[in-house]
Amino acid sequence: MRIGIDFGGTKTEIICLDEHNGKELYRHRIPTARDDYAGTVKSIIGLVTQAEDTLGLKGTVGIGIPGTVVAQTGLVKNANSTWLIGKPFQKDLADALARDVRMQNDANCFAVSEATDGAGKGYGVVFGVIIGTGCGGGIALKGAAHLGANAIAGEWGHNPLPYPRVASAMPETAFEAAPHVSDKLAAHYLTDETAIGEYPGPLCYCGRRGCLETWISGTGFKNDYKRVTGASLSTHDIITHAQDGEPKATAALARYTDRLARALAGVVNILDPDVIVLGGGMSNVNSLYTDVPERWGQYIFSDTVETKILPARHGDSSGVRGAAWLWPAAEA
Ligand SMILES: [Zn+2]
Repeated sequence: MRIGIDFGGTKTEIICLDEHNGKELYRHRIPTARDDYAGTVKSIIGLVTQAEDTLGLKGTVGIGIPGTVVAQTGLVKNANSTWLIGKPFQKDLADALARDVRMQNDANCFAVSEATDGAGKGYGVVFGVIIGTGCGGGIALKGAAHLGANAIAGEWGHNPLPYPRVASAMPETAFEAAPHVSDKLAAHYLTDETAIGEYPGPLCYCGRRGCLETWISGTGFKNDYKRVTGASLSTHDIITHAQDGEPKATAALARYTDRLARALAGVVNILDPDVIVLGGGMSNVNSLYTDVPERWGQYIFSDTVETKILPARHGDSSGVRGAAWLWPAAEA
């Protein structure tokens, strides 16, 4: 069988798939041992052992992490589960489990899952996008994760938003009210939609401004609505209001849709994938699948656009399923 593990900041999930038909045999979820590297390794060994004992089968092991493993050193980098950074996580698990372990970024696992038996099945080049709390991207080429020379292929969430709309005389401080900005000025920029442009954009945790993640993640959508209206609503509520035709929410969704179209147009211009599969909370917004293709043509360097944009078939399970599929049929 194939064992997949999705290691997340709060929860770690294991799945076992039948070696031949991919049927789910077992699934279990535990809280992640936060800020405890030794505990994290131990908990994953425990998950695998428990699954194998329960089923009486041994499996190949693939793991998705919110970060990446540097090929040259074998060490984890870019992980928001910071206690993994700089650790030989893959090797430690392989040693403890006495077998090869494959480890990939969770967005790559998502792309592999959807390319294997999900919305991207049958397509050669799949770009998987997770737009939820954050914004991740991964590439599957003929079903296999494409890692890249720096192990960051598909990490497009920290590219800047293309073609930013510029408001006149707008200081950086329009985005985060800094202490030297008067409350009156800050209030103006937070409430007057016409005064808020897209450049230089909100501050991102990576240290730069205007990253796609700050615009097209669910968090980015919510923050944009708040910046313009002054009201703090959940992503779900804003979407519901937009679907009811409420003007401010409708405008927020229109801004979001155009930004996503611009962001994906950049991917099409470089990778030209056969299909783009959306996952994460924002992927549940049905209008995106018609409205983004209506808008992205103006930003894509081609007179016709054949690229498909589809919702993930396996939803929240794509990460853990893709981890299992890091061992493809021919190799498992
Ligand atoms: Zn960033």
